[in-house]
Amino acid sequence: MQLNTITELLRIPGYKITHMISCRKSSIEFLLKREEDKACVCSGCGKVHNTAVHSEGRVLVEDLPISGKRVYLHIPKRKSVCLEDGSIRVEEIEWVRGRFTKRFVEHVYRLTSITTNKEAGWFLGIDDETVYRLDKGMLEELAQEKIEKVKAPRHMSVDEVAWQKWHKYVTNVVDVDRRKVIWNHDGRGKTTLDTFYHKIGTWGCKRIKAVASDGAKGFLSSTKEHAKNALIVLDHFHVKKYLNEAVDVVRKEELRKARQQGHEELGQILHCNKRFILMQNTVTNKQKDILDKLSTLNERVYKAMLLKDQFLSIYVEGNLRVAYANLKAWIGAAIRSGILSFVELGYKFFRKRHYVLNYFVCKITSAISEGINNKIKRLKRMAYGYRDVKYFLLKIHQHCGLLDPKLST
Ligand SMILES: [Zn+2]
Repeated sequence: MQLNTITELLRIPGYKITHMISCRKSSIEFLLKREEDKACVCSGCGKVHNTAVHSEGRVLVEDLPISGKRVYLHIPKRKSVCLEDGSIRVEEIEWVRGRFTKRFVEHVYRLTSITTNKEAGWFLGIDDETVYRLDKGMLEELAQEKIEKVKAPRHMSVDEVAWQKWHKYVTNVVDVDRRKVIWNHDGRGKTTLDTFYHKIGTWGCKRIKAVASDGAKGFLSSTKEHAKNALIVLDHFHVKKYLNEAVDVVRKEELRKARQQGHEELGQILHCNKRFILMQNTVTNKQKDILDKLSTLNERVYKAMLLKDQFLSIYVEGNLRVAYANLKAWIGAAIRSGILSFVELGYKFFRKRHYVLNYFVCKITSAISEGINNKIKRLKRMAYGYRDVKYFLLKIHQHCGLLDPKLST
């Protein structure tokens, strides 16, 4: 292959291939030469100085593989005096990121959007730490361009996610119409959400028509203060979460009792691995058999399940007037049930009844919150917990937001 054919193939602006240094079974190395008129960009200040070149060295960077071979490029790199601070600076090469080409780093970022850093590292033959560094660098670069300015949503949903034990949370804001996370931040509660409203400004806040959340105090007071035109909704998704949590409290209590009393059959049904059956809305025939058995074995868990189903059926009737009557009836039933977690939930839904009913005024879809929540859970599992919260926030944008590489291809 002629060298200018390789130059054509690699297509590096302002450089040509002058020599093939080596060609082994698994790697190939090329020497590059800069085209004469290529200006020297200072890495200190980013400007072009017309000062004399102080010295010239070479750097070795890895590029995308060709025909299964890893590709290494030897690039000439100049040093010159920076006119801003007088120190000697190495030149900045636009398409290089440390020991890799920019397009290699972009490749890493595309891979890490579909698999774990470990797997991506294995695939490319680089270690986890390098994948982390490259991925984070690329995400930070893209974040400046794509998420620095936030466009105010019309319908939004706000949610908190635990990212580490000991109550460390991040808050995500989802644009429901765009189906994407558009902003996130370390922390939770009022001050965190205030940061978002400040970011979009008074005009942005006025644009917001509805805000869905779990109805937590901090989110409510921040929204009332800033987004005065917005309808506040305690949406279906969060309601379901509260109901599942209440059922789970009863399940755990009854499981403990069943074990103390040596009631094996009941213990098995209530065990953790069957917990998901109690959480689902639609069940298979086999799961239905388990639930039927449960109804005869334990009344309290069954009653809790019925209360949950009864609440969810409120959503089937799409009309505000009927929903109001059904909600009132449900709150009464929950408070009278004698099951503590449902008594508490009854009072909670009573206090937040306006927000629950607002769903029937603006049916902000909960499928998006649910989908994004599942993606974040998957992301957390993929990384086995995050140590670096900034990276976690960027990964959320990469997997559920505007930094998703699939958006730009
Ligand atoms: Zn400079």
